Amino acid sequence: MKILDIRTGRIVLPLARPFKTALRTVETLNDIAVKVITDEGEGYGEAPPTAVITGDTEGSILCAVHDYIRPALVGMDVMDLPAVMEKLNGCMVHNTTPKAAVDMAIYDLWARAQKQPLYRLLGGARESFRTDLTISVNPIPQMVEDSLDAVKQGFDILKIKVGKEGEKDVERIAAIRAAVGADVKLRVDANQGWEAKEAVRIIRAMEDKGLDLDLVEQPVPAADLDGLAYVTGNVQTPILADEAVFSERDACEIIRRGAANLINIKLMKTGGIWNALKICRLAEENGVECMIGCMLESRLSVAAAAHLAAGQKIITRADLDGPSLCAIDPYHGGPEFDGPEIAMRGDFGVGVAKIPCEDWN
Ligand code: MG
Repeated sequence: MKILDIRTGRIVLPLARPFKTALRTVETLNDIAVKVITDEGEGYGEAPPTAVITGDTEGSILCAVHDYIRPALVGMDVMDLPAVMEKLNGCMVHNTTPKAAVDMAIYDLWARAQKQPLYRLLGGARESFRTDLTISVNPIPQMVEDSLDAVKQGFDILKIKVGKEGEKDVERIAAIRAAVGADVKLRVDANQGWEAKEAVRIIRAMEDKGLDLDLVEQPVPAADLDGLAYVTGNVQTPILADEAVFSERDACEIIRRGAANLINIKLMKTGGIWNALKICRLAEENGVECMIGCMLESRLSVAAAAHLAAGQKIITRADLDGPSLCAIDPYHGGPEFDGPEIAMRGDFGVGVAKIPCEDWN
């Protein structure tokens, strides 16, 4: 299965409602689609420009794919997966988003050639699982309303975005907990919004109020591993490292220092499934459970993440709400996203077809 060409297109989808975190506000999903063309068919991937987290912009993604990755991979055999992945990861440093898009397209082709849904070849740990839904940072009444709306849609795990106003974040979570009751799991994502001591004060205040959090995600800046370790050591609530972990090396450092209790794996941070599997192995050896997450992505690349999560036992939590945040789903096939429930299907490869791109470059 020889790689003949790699092309890019555009995926533009309206969001059901504006997506707001401590770092940004977005109203439309605007991602780059990647198509890997071989002599035996095509594989697809998706690259969301998320400059505030990965540093990858629309322009840098296009440049990476066309000027570096394409020349490196054209002519290679998809079935020689280790060699292809070594070349993909070695042709340039960083640029994890375009690498992830190409990686998932290659895995799509690789699994289809073996006439298997990808998750079975990645370990086949489960057939279905549940995802949380993200609640954007807004005035408290709006967040309470959005939370109640999510629960009405069947979501029993909510991920609340906070991280701008300290004590007010405690009020936010308290109001949501009071509204949704005790049976809904609450996760809090500060997106690096707090300082270490401030984080301990806020999280302890939430604990004292009995808000019963499943986890707090990335309380402090990504580079502040000492701060992250300080928070983890000084609160009861499990702490999840997100922006602090891109690579296997990052995960190794977090585990060695005990800087977090859990690790959030996102394909756009790792550079795809190949590198994500390395983190899974490391986490499993050390008994550190992982969450699978996504950026603002449509069902195309989130499907690839779903295959990884369904394959790997150590991925015990899912934050794959990208498809739920989009107002429409233009695709056919692949894993089914029905509210909180993600069900794997028998389509070979990643399985998502009918990519809504008219012009491929
Ligand atoms: Mg996060």
